Amino acid sequence: MDTFKAVVVTRDEETRKQSVALKEIGPDDLMEGDVTVKVSHSTLNYKDGLAVTGAGPVVRRFPMIPGIDFAGTVVSSTSDEFSEGDEVLLNGWGVGETHMGGFAGMARVKSDWLIGLPEGLTRFEAMAIGTAGYTAMLCVLALERHGVTPDRGPVVVTGAAGGVGSVAISLLGKLGYHVIASTGRPEEGDYLKDLGAAEIIDRAELSEKARPLGKERWAGGVDTVGTHTLANVLAMTQYGGAVAACGLAGGMDLPSSVAPFILRGVSLLGIDSVMAPKPLRIEAYDRLARDLDKDKLKALTTTISLDEVIDKAGAILEGKVRGRTVIEI
Ligand code: NDP
Repeated sequence: MDTFKAVVVTRDEETRKQSVALKEIGPDDLMEGDVTVKVSHSTLNYKDGLAVTGAGPVVRRFPMIPGIDFAGTVVSSTSDEFSEGDEVLLNGWGVGETHMGGFAGMARVKSDWLIGLPEGLTRFEAMAIGTAGYTAMLCVLALERHGVTPDRGPVVVTGAAGGVGSVAISLLGKLGYHVIASTGRPEEGDYLKDLGAAEIIDRAELSEKARPLGKERWAGGVDTVGTHTLANVLAMTQYGGAVAACGLAGGMDLPSSVAPFILRGVSLLGIDSVMAPKPLRIEAYDRLARDLDKDKLKALTTTISLDEVIDKAGAILEGKVRGRTVIEI
């Protein structure tokens, strides 16, 4: 097997400072696994931004190839589940954190972590969705399971112009919800409306310290921001509603009170994509293949090459990246 390009993160053990570079590496540099995949596409998520820049403690083994998602074709396998030529995708499971990830021409991983490319999706589309989009779908599934249906009232999406937010708006809009998009980028108003938002609000409305209860504005929400924003979203949720919390783009704390829970029966639904069990992943991708408008997915996606990843990683942390970014390897 030939050498291939990879983004490699290393750490100076004395200063504990992380560095990153694009390198030419070989199959022996990869870690153990029963399936080897020729990676054709990966994607840049917020977490990848943290991993590449070292701004957050995402990488827990050095050297590391970041990239929590990839799609590609199996080149060798000792697993019964996958054979040479199968198209596969991977999201999470610690890949790009503790196991060599998707920002490389090749990946060697455990077959348990892979799923076959869902019918109706290309490898490019699977990565346009990526962890961010699949997490958006997990949020929608959680709201549906809680009975937050379009007839119950509006739903709010915070961090609207980001990756999770953009896909959540597209999905909820197509499913018939009245979507309120909360963004700090008013210039993205038309983009958000094209995706499916019915109303745009300034994120400043939700970023001040929350009162225990506020005016009931929505039946539910998808929150990617955390901290005061999540506290305000909860305080403004209607009686019996629910909020799917998946992110911390604004902070990890939750300065809230129990008032929404005990006085309005509001539920806080925790969403984790990394260790989500395989049947739930397959359900989420089946729904994505069915419920996500492909033209909208294309409209919210930018494509870059592996050479551009290091530059773009800083931009995603600054909230300057719109929608989703696919990396063509
Ligand atoms: P993006 O960077 O694409 O989007 C985040 C958005 O949040 C930004 O575009 C911006 O939206 C908003 N934002 C950024 N900084 C702030 C701030 N200081 N205060 C308020 N809003 C802010 O990231 P992703 O969509 O990829 O991920 C969103 C979050 O979800 C991240 O925290 C990520 O770690 C988390 N996540 C969690 C997963 C899980 O399994 N639980 C899986 C995937 C992601 P705007 O400009 O519209 O205001």
